[in-house]
Amino acid sequence: MDSFNYKNGKLFAEDVDLAKIAASVGTPVYIYSKATILDHFEKTKKAYSKLDTTICYSIKACGNINILKILAEAGSGFDIVSGGELFRAQQAGADIKKTVYAGVGKTDTEIISALKAGIGYFNIESEAELEHIIRLAEQTGTKAKAALRVNPDVDPKTHAHITTGTKETKFGVDIERAQKVFERYANNSFVNLCAIHVHLGSGGKTIDPYCQAVKKILPLIDALRKKGYRIEALDLGGGYGADYRTDSAPTAADYAEGIVPLLIDKNLKLILEPGKSIVANAGILLTKVLFLKQGGSKKFVIVDAGMNDLIRPCLYDAFHFIWPAKVKEQFTHLKRTDKLDIKGLEFVDVVGPICEGADFFAKDRALPPVERGDLISIFTAGAYGYTMASNYNARPLPAEVLVDGDNFKIIRKRQTYEDMISLEK
Ligand SMILES: *Cc1c(COP(=O)(O)O)cnc(C)c1O
Repeated sequence: MDSFNYKNGKLFAEDVDLAKIAASVGTPVYIYSKATILDHFEKTKKAYSKLDTTICYSIKACGNINILKILAEAGSGFDIVSGGELFRAQQAGADIKKTVYAGVGKTDTEIISALKAGIGYFNIESEAELEHIIRLAEQTGTKAKAALRVNPDVDPKTHAHITTGTKETKFGVDIERAQKVFERYANNSFVNLCAIHVHLGSGGKTIDPYCQAVKKILPLIDALRKKGYRIEALDLGGGYGADYRTDSAPTAADYAEGIVPLLIDKNLKLILEPGKSIVANAGILLTKVLFLKQGGSKKFVIVDAGMNDLIRPCLYDAFHFIWPAKVKEQFTHLKRTDKLDIKGLEFVDVVGPICEGADFFAKDRALPPVERGDLISIFTAGAYGYTMASNYNARPLPAEVLVDGDNFKIIRKRQTYEDMISLEK
């Protein structure tokens, strides 16, 4: 589900007219729907309810504390990849026992704060890292649990930059190596290595890689248990598809249908780390048309959001459906795809104001005619949108707004010029 729909030609987030938000908060602005976030979370929880499952929402997808609070209150744990994300989880009042911490380059400061906070599992990326966490646990008189990140060597067949579960990546250890790591470290009294972590990377469009990964990992768990090691949990990571195009991704129920039967009666707790499948289509980036420009045979729509606000199209060739916030009735019922064949559309490039050829949101995209001042929605921008935004070109970070029914509130103010230079004084 998502909650961005047209009513009488005007785009609403739940029951709030987006034009109203733009008038009061300005543009560019990220707008999130609380109902959509909770809907995805609850559906995921329900899909895996036959297993003892903990959902650890991946903070790096969208880390606003107000959004983390909503998820924490709904019972979510968190997947973190830095000390900064741990701090965010703590600020949101999260149950830190339900936190898992991944990342190939954890610093001492980060490890010590995670040890002291009492996180659920360190997700271990290498033997050197595990050895070091053991040392720091001993020094600080703390204990922790750990999951070994294992590389099942399956390829979710997605973009090269976001594939992490194949053999040639810097993440985790391969299956053969995993046994040796357990032999060496499993009975440590400071760090209890008692779980397996797998994360295939983002963007898989089918459930197959997940089922393959589970089928490759279960024999490892069996072998480890036969040798007397206690394996209590399997963390299947994140990367579950989100609908960037209408109905393009499997639902949580689809994934669960493949995964749950494989894990039933295996006496394993299941941990999931969904990021974009929870928040991607729960957010949009609302921007305003600054200028129209004809360049040769091309028509450019220049908007007030740039690649510094949303870098996914430039970084990953990501598709985002783009549509004006106010349209004639014939343009209001759409599948969000790039293959639209409706009379009256124009083919345009939607670009930002930044001095880089890579500053674009869409190329040769069919859009209803727009004019200067029109609002345009860049859909499915809830994940890896704000969290990857930067101040490039000295552009202030945009505001973030949360919609709940017919209410909206600013959950992060627009940055000011003073904010941007405050650390330089
Ligand atoms: C990024 C990441 C996730 C979340 O990925 P999504 O594609 O947003 O679901 C989960 N786990 C780990 C270890 C990650 O690095």
